[in-house]
Amino acid sequence: MSRERIIFCDFDGTITEKDNIIDIMKNFAPEGWEPIKDKILNQEVSIRGGVGQLFSLIPSSQKEEIIQYVLSTAKIRDGFEEFVQYTKDQSIPLYVVSGGIDFFVYPILKNIVDEEQIYCNGSSFAGETIEILWPHSCDSQCSNDCGCCKPAILRSFDSASYRKIVIGDSITDLQAAKMADKVFARDFLKEKCEQENIAFEPFTTFYDIISYLQIKEVSI
Ligand SMILES: [Mg+2]
Ligand SMILES: [Zn+2]
Repeated sequence: MSRERIIFCDFDGTITEKDNIIDIMKNFAPEGWEPIKDKILNQEVSIRGGVGQLFSLIPSSQKEEIIQYVLSTAKIRDGFEEFVQYTKDQSIPLYVVSGGIDFFVYPILKNIVDEEQIYCNGSSFAGETIEILWPHSCDSQCSNDCGCCKPAILRSFDSASYRKIVIGDSITDLQAAKMADKVFARDFLKEKCEQENIAFEPFTTFYDIISYLQIKEVSI
């Protein structure tokens, strides 16, 4: 029996051209956020720990301003809407798996991807500063303290039934890429896949991915 294709697509730097968390910090965080960012990149703190710290620097009262800022500046990569339509036409399940936060991921993807198809982190504005919530944290097989655990999400879909396609751009997609049947990579994820001998297709726009899936539809 052939396995059904399923797609897991990263958000920041993949669907959007830039990383929204970094963009938000640049514009809204007080001084002191950059050392935290560096610690995340150097893996001195976990993604979950670091991202939680970053948002705790920003007052909850700035919620609407941040959403307006993100909506006016975030650019969606070319071909994404057509790609979503393609997956619908082909009945390929598509999930967005994001280390981003609901309060900016949902508005950017509004009218493009349903919220039920999005795995991301949550948020609370009840306190003085923004609190990040983690509805999709690591399972017992992951000890990375990911925040939104992409490997755990992939594991929740049975590999006997699904051929898993992962689309991403950075280090946070690497563990998911290792588990995938097919990887589409750009930017830093390409380098990491090369280093780790993971086969991948490079992409620049989502039109590249549509073309590939159309041509190689039978074999991947
Ligand atoms: Mg990314
Ligand atoms: Zn994890």
